Amino acid sequence: MEKKPFVTLDQLRSIQKDYPTPFHIYDEAGIRQTARNVNKAFSWNPGFKEYFAVKATPTPRILKILHEEGCGCDCSSLTELMMSAKCGITGRDIMFSANETPAEEFVLASQLGATINLDDFTHIDYLEKAIGFIPERISCRYNPGGVYQLGESKEGFQVMDNPGDAKYGMTKAQLFEAFKVLKSKGAKEFGVHAFLASNTISNDYYPALAAQLFELAVELKKETGCHITFINLSGGVGIDYRPEQPANDIFAIGEGVRKAYEAILTPAGMDDVAIYTEMGRFMLAPNGHLVTEVIHEKHTYKEYKGVDACAANLMRPAIYGAYHHITVMGKEDQPADHKYDVVGSLCENCDKFAVDRMLPEIEVGDLLVIHDTGAHGFSMGYNYNGRLRSAELLLKEDGSVELIRRAETPEDYFATLVW
Ligand SMILES: *Cc1c(COP(=O)(O)O)cnc(C)c1O
Repeated sequence: MEKKPFVTLDQLRSIQKDYPTPFHIYDEAGIRQTARNVNKAFSWNPGFKEYFAVKATPTPRILKILHEEGCGCDCSSLTELMMSAKCGITGRDIMFSANETPAEEFVLASQLGATINLDDFTHIDYLEKAIGFIPERISCRYNPGGVYQLGESKEGFQVMDNPGDAKYGMTKAQLFEAFKVLKSKGAKEFGVHAFLASNTISNDYYPALAAQLFELAVELKKETGCHITFINLSGGVGIDYRPEQPANDIFAIGEGVRKAYEAILTPAGMDDVAIYTEMGRFMLAPNGHLVTEVIHEKHTYKEYKGVDACAANLMRPAIYGAYHHITVMGKEDQPADHKYDVVGSLCENCDKFAVDRMLPEIEVGDLLVIHDTGAHGFSMGYNYNGRLRSAELLLKEDGSVELIRRAETPEDYFATLVW
């Protein structure tokens, strides 16, 4: 789909007066609409809940907006748990899906009343030692191993990933044993969780995963007698980073999961099972832009446009070679007849937001919108080269702009040093 910024050049010029570039900006209306669509797509399931993956955008204002729309938090670390709690998101509104989890994190998760999702069989004993008991409501993460493939076509598979090589989750045998042990230790409400593929562009991923987990749940119930009350499809629903890619249709996805539910769970008498999701990317990525100004140009063996953002603000292109669409603001209607590398300031040659990208002619002073940075954007930022993290802004529904995280200052960078 054509990529249109959710802000105009005029808006950005006016925002720039108060908040210098680079900055991340999020679209409140878009976030709310996405959450409403997700809730509507799964409204056939009375217990449905989206637990937003906090790691994607760990910003309190965003978590609160999502909470207002009925979402919970999927946390995986101590500080994510603390942030959720400070936002007033506690109890069953927190899913704690961590791995290699320190004891203190289980303690806080338990104090907050979070639902704990165990990554490994050995974590049963570890959790019991850490908190002194086994909670009545508990979840286990499943990893079927092997290679995960979906939707074969001439070009290959629509979705392909490698769970057998992933550190997460339990084998099937361990999962059955875990349920039996947990039940003997007092657990009463059980959940199953699995994350098999990342950034999937296919309306079939969740339905196929759901069918697999539903069949597993039926088997688990038969063999262990455990009461399975929720199935967590986790994250992994992708977005169309490239304009020529198809977009996922959340309504088709919800409908596909419903069909699998009615085919597998309902006949097994398990129609009290709630569906949970832990989407990060799908919820937030398209609802965020990284805005940066062109400050240099360089003509050597290639044509470079140097911007004031760098991989410290958005790491995905540098580490995955990920594509992020770029709009040269105010030049949307001009032909893309210039080939550029759009580069940041890190002393690393991978610090390129675009390589050999065809764009309208760019001049120093132009503002660029880098698209789809609302998830796994700011949050993956780091301080390499002494670069500071940028501000985060919220474009509110009334068109005004609110600072939701200030930019780091040199004082922040020096704060942990011992001289
Ligand atoms: C990262 C993660 C997610 C979110 O993944 P997205 O690709 O952003 O949807 C959800 N659950 C768990 C356990 C994760 O680690």
